[in-house]
Amino acid sequence: MSQVGRTQVAIVGAGPAGLLLGHLLHLRGIDSVVLERQSREHIERRIRAGVLEQGTVELLREVGLADRLLRERLVHRGLELLFDGEAHRVPLTELTGRELTIYGQHELVKDLVAARLATGRPLLFEAPAVALAGLDGTAPEVHYVHNARTHELRCDFVAGCDGFHGISRPSVPDGALTGYEREYPYAWLGVLAEAPPSSEELIYAHHDRGFALHSMRSPKLTRLYLQVAPDEDLAAWPDERIWDELRTRLARRSGFALADGPIVDKGVTALRSFVAEPLGHGRLFLAGDAAHIVPATGAKGLNLAVADVAVLAAAIGEWYSAGSSAALDAYSATCLERVWRVQHFSWWMTSMLHPSPDAFTRRLQLSQLRYLTTSTAAATSFAENYVGLPLSRPSSPQSSPHRGAPR
Ligand SMILES: Cc1cc2nc3c(=O)[nH]c(=O)nc-3n(C[C@H](O)[C@H](O)[C@H](O)COP(=O)(O)OP(=O)(O)OC[C@H]3O[C@@H](n4cnc5c(N)ncnc54)[C@H](O)[C@@H]3O)c2cc1C
Repeated sequence: MSQVGRTQVAIVGAGPAGLLLGHLLHLRGIDSVVLERQSREHIERRIRAGVLEQGTVELLREVGLADRLLRERLVHRGLELLFDGEAHRVPLTELTGRELTIYGQHELVKDLVAARLATGRPLLFEAPAVALAGLDGTAPEVHYVHNARTHELRCDFVAGCDGFHGISRPSVPDGALTGYEREYPYAWLGVLAEAPPSSEELIYAHHDRGFALHSMRSPKLTRLYLQVAPDEDLAAWPDERIWDELRTRLARRSGFALADGPIVDKGVTALRSFVAEPLGHGRLFLAGDAAHIVPATGAKGLNLAVADVAVLAAAIGEWYSAGSSAALDAYSATCLERVWRVQHFSWWMTSMLHPSPDAFTRRLQLSQLRYLTTSTAAATSFAENYVGLPLSRPSSPQSSPHRGAPR
């Protein structure tokens, strides 16, 4: 026998999308239960993104989630594009008036978990959702397992924030969603090293031997990536080989000293572009990686997840406070506008920076890089996309009258 519970919004997944959505709903007085398949330790240690757009930081600050972030972050106002042995700085802030924040996703997740626990509203770890039901009606259910017992959570809405491999998107009836996908003939080997960053800003390198990226998560942690084959065997990459290859691909004629140190995390990540349209079905709304994936080159995945839930929280808020479904009806179309802009930018940046084996395409890539680093117009267009377009602002989060569910 399942234990039966009730909430207003069942949130599947405690990544950045699910946790932030829970917080934005909380500020509107709307109850939710957040279900997470993994343990707290696991999600707080998972090394992923680390570049936050100004719009993301502004939203986090407005809703009281940025105290530690603002104390500990690194602020970036430019980046380097390295090709033909020369680095070219793109002055992002000078071109756009906006800046970027470097703050590890796992640190943000820690802040979001702490904020959620402080509200006293439910956040269940090691509680995988195993089935969604009733999405076409007005009383959907999420079935989940927790402490070896099955539970049935009844709700008004389900927010599918369970990442690309979750159960929300596959729970939509066949034919109701269309997936648009692009795979790339390469992947990224990413490492986190206990070494101070060797450059104050990110370096994107287009090299004969493949793409490389020098990034960071803090003054003591460097995040580095190498383009590898999609089926690359991690065992073939002992630490010394990784450092040698990074030194080669990040070298420049004027000289460059790459600081190394113990590698504390290592993994191969596939590069993929994917969008599901529409972003939901019936009472299920998809947000973040559950709905779309971008190759990490443009550093957009986390920011896009934040942009989605800002729109979703406002739309759900309007439903409870004004009884209007207009914003919920428009949720998918509203988000998809941004999603496709970001998809194009991420695809374009990825295609330009990973050297093609085809000689003609290779020359086009280098031509594009030269144009980008010599034309203010081209650099400005790049910078505007890289720093991120302004977020669709949610209406000011505040407590509002709502129907139903007990806390
Ligand atoms: C391996 C990996 C590496 C990445 N590296 C980078 C990077 O270096 N740079 C960059 O810019 N971006 C990177 N990204 C992208 C970025 O981290 C994501 O876009 C971001 O995490 C999206 O947040 P999200 O909340 O939508 O999804 P997620 O962070 O994936 O969160 C989804 C959550 O749902 C949980 N879940 C899944 N199924 C269930 C279920 N059935 N029941 C309950 N919970 C469930 C998962 O455990 C997870 O905690 C990476 C993504 C991945 C997957």
